[in-house]
Amino acid sequence: MNIVKDKKSQHIVDYIKEFARKNSLFVMAYGTGCGAIEIPPTMTSRYDAERFGIRGAATPRQADVLLITGYLAVKTLKRVIRVYEQMQDPKYIIAFGSCTINGGMYFDSYNTINALDRYVPVDVYINGCMPRPEAVIEGFVALQEKIQRGDADNGKKYQENIDWYRENQMKVIKNWNMPDYNW
Ligand code: SF4
Repeated sequence: MNIVKDKKSQHIVDYIKEFARKNSLFVMAYGTGCGAIEIPPTMTSRYDAERFGIRGAATPRQADVLLITGYLAVKTLKRVIRVYEQMQDPKYIIAFGSCTINGGMYFDSYNTINALDRYVPVDVYINGCMPRPEAVIEGFVALQEKIQRGDADNGKKYQENIDWYRENQMKVIKNWNMPDYNW
């Protein structure tokens, strides 16, 4: 009987924890591509993303969400990895624009990467070229639902599969000079 009661209380604690977490998302917006132009209207009075508990973070260590807004050159990928690894767990990535999914119009470029989730774990993709603020907010809502379900644990999966990610990262980043982080 006590076990049943404990399970129920644990469930309630988890629910409250995820509820608080999903409604307080501090975002590190990394304007890697042209889609970055949609961030100011998303965050300011017209679309007012703060209604959903979404607001900017000053540094990676204060951020929950890394928002990647378009194509990534190999050089930029290196910085994205560095930013992501400085963020505290639980942490999430939202990638928007076709370029993050399959390279978009740069799919055969010599210097951009195609599938972002080969290098860092992406929680939500928002497709389009470029997605409007409504789509960006919808992407955040999809992430919030994932957090509430308890399915958003990519930070942990990144650590568990770090060898696979490192191998992929080092295939494209030839000048690999990165600090090691203590998880
Ligand atoms: S998806 Fe379109 S808008 Fe976004 S970075 Fe690529 S080319 Fe630019």
